[in-house]
Amino acid sequence: MTNLQIAIDGPAGSGKSTAARQVAKELGYIYVDTGALYRAVALVALRQKIDCSDENLLARLAQTLDVDIRPQSDGNPAYFIKGEEVTDKLRSPEVNNIVSQVAKIPAVRTAVTQKLQAIGNLGGIVMDGRDIGTVVLPTAEVKVFLTADLATRVARRQQELLERGFDLPSDVVKEEVLKRDHEDSKRMLAPLKPASDAYILDTTKLTPEQVVQTIVDLVRQKQQQQLSS
Ligand code: C5P
Repeated sequence: MTNLQIAIDGPAGSGKSTAARQVAKELGYIYVDTGALYRAVALVALRQKIDCSDENLLARLAQTLDVDIRPQSDGNPAYFIKGEEVTDKLRSPEVNNIVSQVAKIPAVRTAVTQKLQAIGNLGGIVMDGRDIGTVVLPTAEVKVFLTADLATRVARRQQELLERGFDLPSDVVKEEVLKRDHEDSKRMLAPLKPASDAYILDTTKLTPEQVVQTIVDLVRQKQQQQLSS
């Protein structure tokens, strides 16, 4: 009963990470923010001045990069690379600008997907991302695809950036969100799209608590079905 896989996908600002983190807490599951691994590759690429079109170097980086994920008491994981905490740096505007270009490289996706599947196979996991229900955990018992209207997603991203110390005007944030939406949904491999068996939830008018409750209810229903079958 404690080892279900829960996949939560959706575009930037749809409320995935807030919901996934809280759902994991309520269920006593492990939360995995899969975007953080793509962001870590992008951050190191920026630091090493690797060109975003250099597929070979980026692939090698993704295969060898060791990201240490340490759970925190508040439910927010902290991320370390070679002992340095990079949690806020992963969500910087510079990383936002290139992460989708890095994430569309097939060998980068393969390396990250293998790492995620190794974690996901343990079960008792809530993963959020773009391709969790379709590619990473296609047999997840519960799949949710979150959406929200553009203005709401931009406002959420702007607030999130502000909380991390990046004060950007909404038109700049809007441009970044639209660019990532486009790159993530149009790419050849593992594009952003709902799995055919995903529950689609528009979070525009919902509070974070309502989103969490809806997902937890879906999990409980699935657990009941498993008990009675
Ligand atoms: O979720 P987050 O905004 O942190 O994701 C950052 C980027 O990483 C996305 O815009 C996307 O390009 C990539 N990503 C992905 N597949 C995932 C998670 C994230 O391609 N499962």
